[in-house]
Amino acid sequence: MKISWKVILLWTLPALAIGFFLWQGAFGSSGIEIGQNTASTRMTYGRFLEYLDNDRVRSVDLYENGRTARVAAVDPQLNNQLQQWRVDLPANSPELISKLREAKVSFDIHPPRNEGAIWGLLGNLIFPVLLIAGLFLLFRRSSNVPGGPGQAMNFAKSKARFQMEAKTGVMFDDVAGIEEAKEELQEVVTFLKKPERFTAVGARIPKGVLLVGPPGTGKTLLAKAIAGEAGVPFFSISGSEFVEMFVGVGASRVRDLFKKAKENAPCIIFIDEIDAVGRQRGAGIGGGNDEREQTLNQLLTEMDGFEGNAGIIIIAATNRPDVLDSALLRPGRFDRQVTVDAPDIKGRLEILDVHARNKKLAPDISLEAIARRTPGFTGADLSNLLNEAAILTARRRKEAITMLEINDAVDRVVAGMEGTPLVDSKSKRLIAYHELGHAIVGTLLKDHDPVQKVTLIPRGQAQGLTWFTPSEDQSLVSRAQLMARITGALGGRAAEDAIFGDAEVTTGAGNDLQQVTGMARQMVTRFGMSDLGPLSLESQTGEVFLGRDLMKISEYSEEIASRIDAQVRSIVEHCYDDAKSIIRENRAAIDRLVDLLIDKETIDGEEFRQIVAEYAIVPEKEKYVPHI
Ligand code: ADP
Ligand code: MG
Ligand code: ZN
Repeated sequence: MKISWKVILLWTLPALAIGFFLWQGAFGSSGIEIGQNTASTRMTYGRFLEYLDNDRVRSVDLYENGRTARVAAVDPQLNNQLQQWRVDLPANSPELISKLREAKVSFDIHPPRNEGAIWGLLGNLIFPVLLIAGLFLLFRRSSNVPGGPGQAMNFAKSKARFQMEAKTGVMFDDVAGIEEAKEELQEVVTFLKKPERFTAVGARIPKGVLLVGPPGTGKTLLAKAIAGEAGVPFFSISGSEFVEMFVGVGASRVRDLFKKAKENAPCIIFIDEIDAVGRQRGAGIGGGNDEREQTLNQLLTEMDGFEGNAGIIIIAATNRPDVLDSALLRPGRFDRQVTVDAPDIKGRLEILDVHARNKKLAPDISLEAIARRTPGFTGADLSNLLNEAAILTARRRKEAITMLEINDAVDRVVAGMEGTPLVDSKSKRLIAYHELGHAIVGTLLKDHDPVQKVTLIPRGQAQGLTWFTPSEDQSLVSRAQLMARITGALGGRAAEDAIFGDAEVTTGAGNDLQQVTGMARQMVTRFGMSDLGPLSLESQTGEVFLGRDLMKISEYSEEIASRIDAQVRSIVEHCYDDAKSIIRENRAAIDRLVDLLIDKETIDGEEFRQIVAEYAIVPEKEKYVPHI
C-alpha cells in the first residue's frame, strides 16, 4: 500500500499540535490547585514560622498531604491587613500541627484532589487519541476523494474525472464551416441510434473515430455538439487526465471508464487531446514514460475488448496524429480518421455567421469581406477576432461594431498590439525605406500577393509592417511564387542596402532573412526546385522525439550537403540581386512614397499602386511583370 507520507504528516501535525497543547494544559492544572481562587503570594517557611510565633497567623489550610498551605495572616507592613500567602511546607513536619494547636490558629486539612490526576491521565491519553482520530479521518477522506492519495483499494475510481454530460449546450448548428467532418460525426450518431440499418447489410460499426486537425478548428466543439445531439450518454475525458504521478492510475482509470461505458451503452466516449496518452511507445531516451505506456496498453486492450456492436463509440481528438502510436490507428481501433482543417472562405463566412449571432453589427459590415481578409484563420481565430472587435467597440463607446474595429482587430490578432508611432528620425526614415522596399518589390513582381497596406505604426515586435493580401489557395505554390516571395522578403534589406549603403544596413531584416533561408532551403531539399533535381532530401521535420530523431542518420552524403548549401545560396543571391535592381530602378517612386509614408504613417494598397503606376518602368527583359 502506498501512502503519501507528506499527506499524513500534514494531517497529523495539527493533531499533534493540538494534542500537545491540551497535554500541557492538563499538566498545568494537575499541579497546584491552591492558587486557583486567590492571588496569594508566596511566603517562605521560615517567615511563616516567624509569623506564627508572633501571633500574626489567623488561619491555615493544608493541602496535598500537608505539603503546601494557604496561610491567612495580618501583615504589619500593610496596616495589619489580613493577607493570603502560600507556603511550601517540609515533607514531614508533624510538629507543625501541634504548633498550630498551641498557637490556637484555626487550621484545616484538605484531602488531595483527584481531579488533577484525572486531568493528567486525560492529558496523556488525548494525544494518541487525536493522532488515531486524525489518521482515521485521513483514510476516510482519501477513500471518498476520487483518485485521492493514499488509497489502494479504489485508487483510481475516477468518478469525478470523466463527466457524463447530457447537455453541453452546443448543437450541430453551432459548428460551421467543417461540413465533411460534421457529416461524418452525424453518421456516428446514426450508428448508435439505428445500428440495425448497418448490421443488416453486414457492416461492422466502427469503434473509434479520430478527429485530426490543427488547434482551434473545432474538434472539441464538434464532440460537444455530438453530446448535445446524440441523446445518449457521453463520457468525456482529456488524455492528460489519465496520466498521473502514481503508477497504475492511468490504466485503472481507463478500465474504470470502459466499465462505466459498458454499463451505460449505447454511449459515446470522447477522449480529448489523446496524444497525451497515445504517443508512440518506446520513443525517447530511456524508453519513455512507463506510466503512459501502461495506460496506452490498457486503452488498446479495452478497445479490443468489446465487440463493434456493443454500442460504444470512441471519439478522440488530436492535433498531433504524427506522434500517435501506430497500434492506435490500425483498423479495429480508431479506424476512421476525420480531418478537421482550417476552413476555406465559404467556411469562414459560415463560422462568422455563427459567431456574429450574439454581436451587434453596424449595417456597413460585410462578413464576406472579413472572410476574404482572413485566409488561414481557424474557427477559434475568427471567434477571437469578432470578440476583439466587440471589445474595441465597447472601448470606443460605439453602439455597434463597424468595419474599422474589425480591421483593427484583424491587425491585432495577426500582428499583435499596436505601439506608439516613432517620432520622425533617421531610423524612422530607414524603416520607411525598408517597408517600402518590401511593398514595391511585392507590387512589381507578377507572382507576388498584392500589397494591402504599408504602415509605420509598430505592432507586436515589428517597427513597421507591410501587409499583403494572401491569395485564397495556399495549398499549391509554384516555383515562381516562391521566388517572388523570397525576393519580396529580401526587398526590405535590399532597400536599406541600395539607399543607405552597405555599412548602414540594420538588424531589422533578421526576421526576413530567416524566412528567406527557410523557403530557399525547402525549395532545394523538399520540393525539388533547384539544379539538384526533383529529389526529396529531407523529410519534413516536425517536433522531434528526443532520442528517436536525435541520432537520425543524415539522408545524404557530405557532398550533397555542400551542394544543397550552394543551391540555397544561389537562389537567395539571385533574388537579392533582383530586389536590389527593382529598388534602384524605382528610386524616384520610393523617395516620394517614403515622404508620404512618414507623413501619413499608413498607405493603403490602392493608393500605393496608383503612385507606383505613375513611375513604374516596365523593364525590357520582362524581368518582372507589374501587377498594375
Ligand atoms: P480544437 O479543435 O482545438 O479542439 P475548439 O473546438 O476548442 O478547437 O474550438 C475553440 C473555439 O473556437 C470554439 O469554442 C468555438 O467558439 C470556435 N470554433 C472553432 N471552430 C469552429 C467552427 N467550425 N464553428 C464555429 N465555431 C468554431
Ligand atoms: Mg480541443
Ligand atoms: Zn522586413
